[in-house]
Formats: sequence, structure tokens, C-alpha cells
Amino acid sequence: MSTPTKIAFFGLGTMGGGMAQRLLGAGFTLAVYNRNPERAAPLAALGARRAQTPADAAQGAGVLIAMLSDDVASREVWLGHHGALTAAAPGSICIECSTLTVPWVRELAADCAARQLAFLDAPVAGTKPHAANGELTFFVGGPAHTLDAVRPVLTATSKEILHLGPVGAGAAYKLINNFIAGVQAAALAEGVALLERSGLDPQKVLPILASGPVGSPLVKMLCTRHGNKDYTPNFQLHLMAKDIAYALAEGKHHGLTLQTATAALYRFTQAAKAGLGNEDIAALLKFMQQGGIA
Ligand code: NAP
Repeated sequence: MSTPTKIAFFGLGTMGGGMAQRLLGAGFTLAVYNRNPERAAPLAALGARRAQTPADAAQGAGVLIAMLSDDVASREVWLGHHGALTAAAPGSICIECSTLTVPWVRELAADCAARQLAFLDAPVAGTKPHAANGELTFFVGGPAHTLDAVRPVLTATSKEILHLGPVGAGAAYKLINNFIAGVQAAALAEGVALLERSGLDPQKVLPILASGPVGSPLVKMLCTRHGNKDYTPNFQLHLMAKDIAYALAEGKHHGLTLQTATAALYRFTQAAKAGLGNEDIAALLKFMQQGGIA
């Protein structure tokens, strides 16, 4: 099966904007849709067709890709009024790259199948610069032959494509990955609060911590950003809270209480309620160090 060259892309936020730009750069023909139309302007300037609705973007596309906040946004764009699936041509391939719940991904895949559309869940690892530079890693769920048909599309935005199993496998893996990341970030933020109260100098101690055995790539990155007071959003704090909540629901579905995830969600929720939801997850360290917590 040859790879379709016409792509509809939904969601031009932190991640989607960079991904869409990479696809244009690789020579694909793009129609783009974003709820806030202003965000489509830079892509239109690069040659993308600016669509008024998801259905409008889907017209004539062989591949449809979404990179949206959450289940609500995904449902709205695929199945809402003027949703993408109302206009997608039978035989085209839908790819969900957003971090979503497993039940919703399976429901969407079933809806696609009923309309003779192929479906992959393909959430990503990497953040804003990785999306812009084509260095994402895809975690893919769905049939191998569907993945093979869109491999050149995913390759344009990634350094690695990992096929993890049937529909839902990518979504499930991504939630596990992110709850572990959220737990690391929350533990680090509590550590920062404690070292501050212990009279230790965070500027001096955090580089020591980051270079020691607990200095995972994530911990290193958070220590650097906190040290530089750089909280500009690569990965917004409210999205991490969402991912942990989704992982907790997935655990519950399997009869498993993710206690560490519960604790991490508590911290992220506190910070979001304090108004830091749209800042980078590194802002959790600022929040804890400033002592606005118990
Ligand atoms: P973002 O910058 O907040 O972008 C979210 C996108 O979703 C925007 O295009 C937004 O449109 C759209 N949206 C939200 N609600 C909507 C609705 N009800 N209807 C239609 N569109 C809606 O988020 P992001 O950082 O790009 O993340 C996108 C997805 O990737 C999320 O699932 C996130 O968890 C995941 N992810 C993010 C990162 C990261 O480092 N940032 C890494 C891996 C995975 P508007 O512009 O109109 O608001």
C-alpha cells in the first residue's frame, strides 16, 4: 500500500504546531485545523490549507492526525459538530497522537472501523523541541500493516517508532510512562521543599542531586530549568495532572491503586489550583520551594 500524501492535521499547540511544520517540510500536502484559528496562521504561511472545521480539513485527506489536549478535545474534533469522521473518506487512516484514556481510544477505533477507516493510537515521547526537530518517539497501537502504510508520515516527525501491540497499547504505555514521570517530578519537588527547610542551598545542592544516582534525564532537565528559573511551557503542568489522572483510572480499571500516582496528582493539582497550570511542569519545583504547601 502506498503512503497517502494528503494529510489533515488537527491541533496546532505546543506539540502539534511543530509536528505539522515537519510534515510540510517533508513535502506532504497539509490541511490544518485548530480551534483557535490564529494558531494556524504560521502553518498557512508555510503552505498549509487553513480549514474552518475538522470536517473541512478531512476533505480529500488520506491520513488524518490529531494532537489535542485530552479526551474531551479528541471527541470534539473527531466526532463533534463538523467532526473529522463525518468527512473522512473510507480507506483513509486516522492517527491519534494525543495522550488519552485507553477506553476512549478503543471507542474511537471502533467508530473508525464502522466507517471503514483504519486507526492507530500513536502517542509520543519528547517535548516541544523534539516535536519541532523531528525527534519524537511514537508508541503505536494498531495493525502492523496500517503502521507500515503511514511509516513515512511518522518518520518525518520522529527518531523512533515503536509498535507495542493492538489498538490501545500505545495509549496504555504512554499513561504508564507519564505517571512514572509525574511521580519523579513530584518527589523531586517535595525534595526541593525539604532541602530548603533543612537550610540547604538549592542552587548548590540540586546540581549534586542531578548528577547522582537519582538524576534521571527528567530530574536533570527539571533541576536545570528550575535553576534557570525557566518555567516557559514545554509540557504544561495541567497536562501532566491530566495524564496522572488518566493513569489512575487505568489502574482502577485493572483493580490496581497507583498510590504514588495519587500522591503525585495531589501535588500537581495543588500547583494548578495556585495558578501554575499553564506553566511548565518545572513550575512544581518553584511552587514547593516557595512553601505554598503542607
Ligand atoms: P497544547 O499546547 O495545550 O495544545 C492543545 C491543543 O488541543 C490545541 O490545539 C488546542 O486548541 C486543542 N484543544 C483543546 N481543547 C480543545 C477542544 N475542546 N476542541 C478542539 N481543540 C481543542 O498541548 P500540547 O503540549 O501540544 O499537548 C498535546 C497532547 O500531547 C496532549 O495530549 C499532551 O498530553 C500530549 N503530550 C505533550 C507533550 C509536551 O511535552 N507538551 C509531550 C508528549 C505528549 P486551542 O489552541 O484552540 O486551545
